[in-house]
Parts: sequence; C-alpha cells; structure tokens
Amino acid sequence: ATAFSGKNVALFGLGGSGIATAHALIAGDASVIAWDDNPDRVEDASRAGIPVVDLRTISWSEQAALVLAPGVPLTHPKPHWSVDLARGAGAEVIGDIELFVRQRRLEAPDCPFIAITGTNGKSTTTALIAHILGEAGRDTQLGGNIGTAIMTLDPPKNGRFFVVECSSYQIDLSPSINPTAGILLNLSPDHLDRHGTMQHYAEVKERLVAGSDLAIIGTDDHWCMLIADRLERASTPVFRISKRDALADGYYAAGAKLMRASGGTAHQVADLSSISTLRGAHNAQNAAAAIAACIAVGLTESEILAGLGSFGGLEHRMQPVARRARVLFVNDSKATNADASAPALSSFDRIYWIAGGLEKEGGIHSLSGLYPHIAKAYLIGEAAPAFAATLGDDVDYEIAGTLERAVARAAEDAAEDAAEEAVVLLSPACASFDQYKNFEIRGNAFVDCVATLPDITMLVN
Ligand code: ADP
Repeated sequence: ATAFSGKNVALFGLGGSGIATAHALIAGDASVIAWDDNPDRVEDASRAGIPVVDLRTISWSEQAALVLAPGVPLTHPKPHWSVDLARGAGAEVIGDIELFVRQRRLEAPDCPFIAITGTNGKSTTTALIAHILGEAGRDTQLGGNIGTAIMTLDPPKNGRFFVVECSSYQIDLSPSINPTAGILLNLSPDHLDRHGTMQHYAEVKERLVAGSDLAIIGTDDHWCMLIADRLERASTPVFRISKRDALADGYYAAGAKLMRASGGTAHQVADLSSISTLRGAHNAQNAAAAIAACIAVGLTESEILAGLGSFGGLEHRMQPVARRARVLFVNDSKATNADASAPALSSFDRIYWIAGGLEKEGGIHSLSGLYPHIAKAYLIGEAAPAFAATLGDDVDYEIAGTLERAVARAAEDAAEDAAEEAVVLLSPACASFDQYKNFEIRGNAFVDCVATLPDITMLVN
C-alpha cells in the first residue's frame, strides 16, 4: 500500500525517473495516467505498460495528485493544461521525493533519512555520507538529484539508510519532507532562473531543514545564518558548521583540522590534510556536514573517520586522478565557470592550470585574487585568447590549444617545480562544447591524456 493506493494520479514527464515513478505508483495500486510532450517518450512508456493519456484532455477534479518529474518547470506553458489548472481543481502538485517521504512515513517512519541541499557541494556531501555509511556496513540507499531516481531505490524499511540529494525544485515539490538529519550547506545567488528571487530560493531550501529532526546548517553565509537563527527560535534542533569561524557549539574547520565545539570547548575530530579527495575549505564544510549527519544517525566517530579516509571523491570534481613523483594530477572538469574553478584554485599552492573552452560571461576576471596559486596557465579552446588577455602580465601562460598539448606541457613544467607538491589541474572555467560534448567527456579525455605519460601512477581506473 502507498499513500496513493486506490487514487487517481496524473504524472507528467516520462524520462527515466518519471517511468520509475509511474511503475512505483502502479505497484502501489494507484490508478495512473502519464504524459510527456515528447511523443517518443509517450510511446516508450506505453510499451512499458504505463497508461498514457494526453493531460490536456482530462478532468483535473478527478485527480488526487499531479506528479511532476524532476526538471519539468512549474510554469510549464501549455494551452488547456497547466500546473495551475490542476492545483485550481484541488489536485496536489508533488514530486518523487514527496512520494518517498509518504511511503517512508507509512512503512518505516524510523528508517534513517539524510537529505542534503545547498547551492554548492550537494553531490560531494551526499556521496561522502553514503560512502561512510556503506563502509560502516549499513544498508545504504543513495539517490535523488545525484543520479538514481528515488523511486528506483529499494523501499524504506527499518535499518535501511537513505541519503538523498535534493534540488530546490525537488524540495518545492515535497511539502512534507521530514528527514532525520537535514543538511543545508550554503546559499549563494545561483539557479535563480527557476526560483525568481533569492528570498524565494532561500525559503524553499529552508523548508528542508525546518522539517528535519536535526537541522545541520553551514552558517558561513548571511542567508544560512538567518535560517539557523530562525529555526532555533522555533525550537528546531540546529547543529552549526563553519569552514571559517571558530564556533562555540558545532563543527568548524581550523585549516585542515575539523574541530567539534561544545559549550565553548573544542576538540579535534579529524585532520583532512592527508585526505587528498577532501582538500580545501569548501570540502571542510562538506566533511563537517557529513560527520554531523552520520553522528545523528548513530555512527561512531571511529566508523566515520575510517570512511572519511577512504573516500575516493566524485568524478570530475577536484578529483585526484594520478600522481608522478611530487606532481598530483587533478580533474575538475565540472568547473564550467570562473566561480566553480575558485575552490580548486584556492585549494593548492603550485598549480599548473589548464583552462579554457567555451567562455562564459564574465570570463575569469573574478579569479584575480587566486593568481598567486598559479605557477603557469595552459590555455585551450575558443576562450584561450580572451583568457590570455585577462591574465596579461600577472600570470605566466601559454596558448596550448588542445587538451592533449596542455597536459603534455603542464606535466613537463610541473616535473621541474621544486615545491613539495605541484598540481596539474584541469579546471576549465568554461563550458566544453567547443571541443567536447560535455564536461564528463572532457574530464575523461584529461584522464586518458594523463594515463599516457611515462612513469605515471593512476589513482583511478
Ligand atoms: P553540487 O552537487 O551542489 O553542484 P558538487 O558537490 O557537485 O556540488 O561540487 C561541484 C563543485 O562545487 C566542486 O567541484 C567545487 O568546485 C564546488 N564545491 C564543492 N563543495 C563546495 C562547498 N561546500 N562550497 C562551495 N563550493 C563547493
């Protein structure tokens, strides 16, 4: 049985997660009709046994709910069909996370559920938590915005741990989300296209922590600080984390050391300096949040430390991929604009920086404060001349053109660096489309180039 057994449910959006959701609803005895604007998807769904009906032709008053697949805008503009029409007729408008939340409430309300949101670091933190739980031998399900649709995971049951990355959009469509531990990492003006104002964006993210048994909040930005204060006033248990400030209560980073403070006294819980996948202040924030969440669901500190130490990182996000003597090769292909490259550039000291591709608005002007970390830049793709002009006399650079040439030249120069550690870093600050189909293919191309270097030790396979 599910929250919708015996009820009529309309579903819109028949990509992978829409199909999974439809099957889950059908298995739970809901009477489902589904649709998509793409006729091929409609046909595929129909062939997979999902009843398809054009939602423009239906009577919304007969529907208990409209389930929207992730990525379908709430403003989906269609003649004779709209989210507003459904809502106006009394149908609930929800997403797949809400279906999970209701199923958990019915079937296994005590099964640990960690939900993660924020502007940056969601996937890293989600993957890190799932890794720690898995290494500690817990039955762990990882999904949501990070890839696996939540409805394709094993169902909630006692003793099974759920680690779910939530986009603002998914929170918006999950009115009763109530995690055991909810994490709000940070908030910055990003993704405002869908949510209009920062105020609204922050309100949506706040709902995830407001519904949590324990709210874990990174209080380094203005918006998150306000939210933490507000929740505390409303008597929601709040656990604060900071990558910057010594807190009286909570976790904070002092350099690479993570400290746990309680009533003004602090002790060290972890030293991240030796964990190459968790370098940098931003990762201290991610790790602190992960530790707090794991403690909240009952892990011991030693179980957590073991998991932290063996975390392999996420592909294409500041991922250490190879080593040769004192040179580390790092794939940060996911950094498709200057802001996204900033954390990697600030995490290392002697950087042989491969950058360029299809330039984004603003170029790399915002990175000038990080130039002291850059030993030399190797510029590729269409953006190379513009980046060269920005770097000017401030940073040594060469126009390498292709990634292959950039890797070869950067590896050569880095090998001669006398520092304790030099880093060949692909962090393009650009989209990939001029030379690669997407950032994953660009990152893989980087790894392939690195793998051909003589005497290289690969850290990934
Ligand atoms: P998200 O899932 O929120 O997009 P990711 O974990 O995929 O975040 O990280 C994407 C990039 O964002 C990373 O390569 C890194 O440059 C940056 N980043 C990661 N964690 C943080 C953080 N806590 N604060 C700021 N930037 C971060």
